[in-house]
Amino acid sequence: MKIVKRESLVKEFEKVEELSQNDQELLAIAREVMENAYAPYSQFLVGCALRLENGVIVKGSNQENMAYPSGLCAERVAIFSAGAQFPGVAIVEMAVTARALNYPIKEPIMCCGACLQSISEYERRYDRPIRTLLHGENGPIWLAEEGSITFLPFQFDVPQLKK
Ligand SMILES: [Zn+2]
Repeated sequence: MKIVKRESLVKEFEKVEELSQNDQELLAIAREVMENAYAPYSQFLVGCALRLENGVIVKGSNQENMAYPSGLCAERVAIFSAGAQFPGVAIVEMAVTARALNYPIKEPIMCCGACLQSISEYERRYDRPIRTLLHGENGPIWLAEEGSITFLPFQFDVPQLKK
C-alpha cells in the first residue's frame, strides 16, 4: 500500500484591485451577467465569464427550474455555449462570482463537482488548463492557474472512451 497524494495551490488576492487589468475585466463581466441569473428557488445568483483564445468573451448565469435538476449552473451554461458557438476555439480563462439575496458571500465561490468535471473535459479537449478566478460578493479572490485539477484532483478520465 502507498499513499497517493495530490496537492493544489491557489493564489489569493485580498482585493479586486490587486488583479491584472484583464482579470478585473473578466470578473466585472461575470458580475454583470450574474444579474441575468434565473434563481427564484435558491435566490443564489452566479455569473461566469469565459475568455476564449480568440479573445471572445462567453457569458453564463445559473438558470433554475421548478423541477430542480433541470436547471443548470452558470459555469456549464457558459462552457456549453462556448462549445456550441465557437467549436475548436480553446477556453483560456474563466471568472466565477456569486451573490445571494438573503446573506453575504464573503468567500470565493467554488464550482460544483459536475461543473469541474465539465471544465476538465474542455481542458483535455484543447489540451490546456482553464485559468480560473473565483470571487464571492466581496472578500478574497482565488486564482487557480492550473484550472479544474486544482479543485478536482482525481478526475474521471478514461481516454479509451473517446473513439
Ligand atoms: Zn455547477
